[in-house]
Amino acid sequence: MGLDTYRHKGLRRQLAGFLKEKGIESDEVLKAIEAVPRHLFLNSSFIERAYEDIAFPIGSGQTISRPHTVAFQTELLELKKGEKVLEIGTGSGYQTCVLLEMGAKVYTIERQKALFDLTKTFLPTIGYNPKFFYGDGYKGLPVFSPFDKIIITAGAPIIPDALLDQLKVGGIMIIPLGDKVQVMTLIKKIAAKQFEKVEYGEFKFVPLLENKEWGD
Ligand code: SAH
Repeated sequence: MGLDTYRHKGLRRQLAGFLKEKGIESDEVLKAIEAVPRHLFLNSSFIERAYEDIAFPIGSGQTISRPHTVAFQTELLELKKGEKVLEIGTGSGYQTCVLLEMGAKVYTIERQKALFDLTKTFLPTIGYNPKFFYGDGYKGLPVFSPFDKIIITAGAPIIPDALLDQLKVGGIMIIPLGDKVQVMTLIKKIAAKQFEKVEYGEFKFVPLLENKEWGD
């Protein structure tokens, strides 16, 4: 387990200030960003730059999202303490920890075994305990549904029907939709089969991988 120093805390406070300037308004989200030691999620060669607003490789061809993207998605979720959240794409677990800091109960799915194993082992060592699942995000977790909120942290070519089914009425899903670039999309479930859609700017994610590409 790595070290969290006053210097790191100072850099996080600066990062939160920067995100506020960039338009993140929720104090809870900014506090969560200030709380999670992002430098511990990175390969040691990147530690010095952990609190800059950039994405980094985390192995298995995947990336830890930019802090602004994490804050932006989290803010759109309008989380309340105790809400049940499904996260698709555990990756490094950084976004997972931000959700936990917001007081959510997090169910997180990763489809790459190496990343799943690494993050499932690492997160508890720094005090974060979501429920981890190795599986396919397109299918979600029907057994644990419905969820108050659903967040997808990879670029999705389509909105998976299974995930719409697993959202509570009144619930919100945040999904980056698109192929090369993605449009951040908020889906609100108004009634059993009725949805409202709002689009927010363009972002860039690694792709949400489909079943056929399972290589492990
Ligand atoms: N939230 C992560 C970002 C990870 S990048 C973080 O903060 O680090 C997206 C992640 O989605 C990758 O780890 C990738 O392996 C995973 N992923 C891709 N397709 C998936 C699928 N169908 N189901 C679950 N996870 C998937």
